[in-house]
Amino acid sequence: MLIGGEWTDGTGGERLDSYNPFTQEVWGTIPQATEQDVGNAIEIAHRTFRERWRHVNGRDRAAMLNRLADLIEENAEELATIDSTDNGKVIRETRSQMRFAARNYRYFAGYADKLQGNTIPLDNGQMFDYTLVEPLGVAVLITAWNSPLPLLANKLAPALAAGNTVVIKPSEHASLSTLAFGKLIAKAGFPDGVVNIVTGDGRIGNALTANPLVRKISFTGGLPTARRILESAAAHLIPVTTELGGKSPNIIFADADLNAAVTGAVAGVFGASGQTCIAGSRLLVQRAIYDEVCRLVVEKVRGIKLGNPLDETTEMGPVANRAQLDKILAMIQQARDEGANIAVGGAKASGPALEGGYFVEPTVIVDVDPSLTIAREEVFGPVLCIIPFEDEADAVAIANATEYGLASGVWTNDLRRAHRVAREIEAGLVWLNTYRASYVGAPFGGTKLSGHGRERSWHALLEYTQVKNVMLDLSAEERDPFAMKL
Ligand code: NDP
Repeated sequence: MLIGGEWTDGTGGERLDSYNPFTQEVWGTIPQATEQDVGNAIEIAHRTFRERWRHVNGRDRAAMLNRLADLIEENAEELATIDSTDNGKVIRETRSQMRFAARNYRYFAGYADKLQGNTIPLDNGQMFDYTLVEPLGVAVLITAWNSPLPLLANKLAPALAAGNTVVIKPSEHASLSTLAFGKLIAKAGFPDGVVNIVTGDGRIGNALTANPLVRKISFTGGLPTARRILESAAAHLIPVTTELGGKSPNIIFADADLNAAVTGAVAGVFGASGQTCIAGSRLLVQRAIYDEVCRLVVEKVRGIKLGNPLDETTEMGPVANRAQLDKILAMIQQARDEGANIAVGGAKASGPALEGGYFVEPTVIVDVDPSLTIAREEVFGPVLCIIPFEDEADAVAIANATEYGLASGVWTNDLRRAHRVAREIEAGLVWLNTYRASYVGAPFGGTKLSGHGRERSWHALLEYTQVKNVMLDLSAEERDPFAMKL
């Protein structure tokens, strides 16, 4: 772990195994931090913020962030290989994720020296009023295992650009890329103690989220953990950004370009083996083209190539761990028990190259009744539910009949309808005639049970800054002490 610029195994001596989901073998170990290690990391981050980092100017922070982006690019192949080995994501995806991560640091480097306040004209012309945009202090950044470094970049880039210090906790299931990334921090020129990394499982959760020195928590993960963190953070009213799951609708209208829509539907839920928060796991298809779309989707899905995630031709790797495999298969079985019509897939994938890994067949369930459990709950795996709809109002009603509100897609060539539906959908993201396209300049985040707050774009800076108002009385007037000054 990286604490105060030192690499340490921590004080507890316990280590956790990290499994390669393609072979089911242990390929690394990580330290299990103790509460003492976590407290130590937070204390150092706090001291570094107070004594050093908040006096570093924006130009110098920008230079470090740009250097960090260079280093990610220089080490992209190694970092991508670590993630593909650790969480099973195919190498073509993890390579593109490293480009995304580097772009993220560069993007926010551009903001580091532009966090300026305003001068504000007040009713009383004798008052000089201005604002300062200030960092918060220590930010705790907690990431999920599916995309460790891009998820971290969404948080760390704006946090550092704004002048905060951080303590990072990656998931116990995929910590190795974050630790390798940690080696780049000193090389980029960040002073010791600005970026700290602790590893381990949820046992250290409370130590991270209830510490009064923490001024901000940004969390990506599941709803049950988010609830625990919010309860724990409530003790000190620590603000929390939550990036959670989804049950995102991908809607195809009859006038859409069918080939593009079907490819978008496949990319939406089978990319990354469905282990993305934005997975378009509910495909809503207008009745007139319903049979045709089901046929095209099933045909494409039958052709998906499963295999070694490090092989450049592999399209779907294994799911990330044993618990994920068991959960996905149990949800498919429950769907079967509830009467689901499985058109393709529905089992653990087998074959000569797949035996050692946690592979799930890409699964398509057709004619889905939206009330089925599988159509309501997040699977976080390669399972698509196809649901027919009649007209625009019907599509919007089905799309919004979920507790989640993260992503959505609309496929149509009717410009007016595209924008109408975009306004009606309850989600933080609407893709029109595309899906799972990621740009750091576009705000990202959810509504309803998908979370609160925004990452990427200038909106992300609002999560890591606070505004201070400063007011100077230029008049030499004697005031009435018992009346409000206006
Ligand atoms: P979890 O909620 O299980 O874990 C997320 C992180 O929280 C991990 O680092 C985990 O550590 C940590 N954690 C566990 N318990 C605590 C605690 N009490 N206090 C503080 N931290 C704790 O989620 P998963 O890792 O299983 O990720 C899957 C979920 O993440 C899905 O719901 C998915 O949709 C969502 N997600 C959302 C994204 C978004 O941007 N909206 C992007 C990616 C995923 P450990 O793993 O070591 O227990």
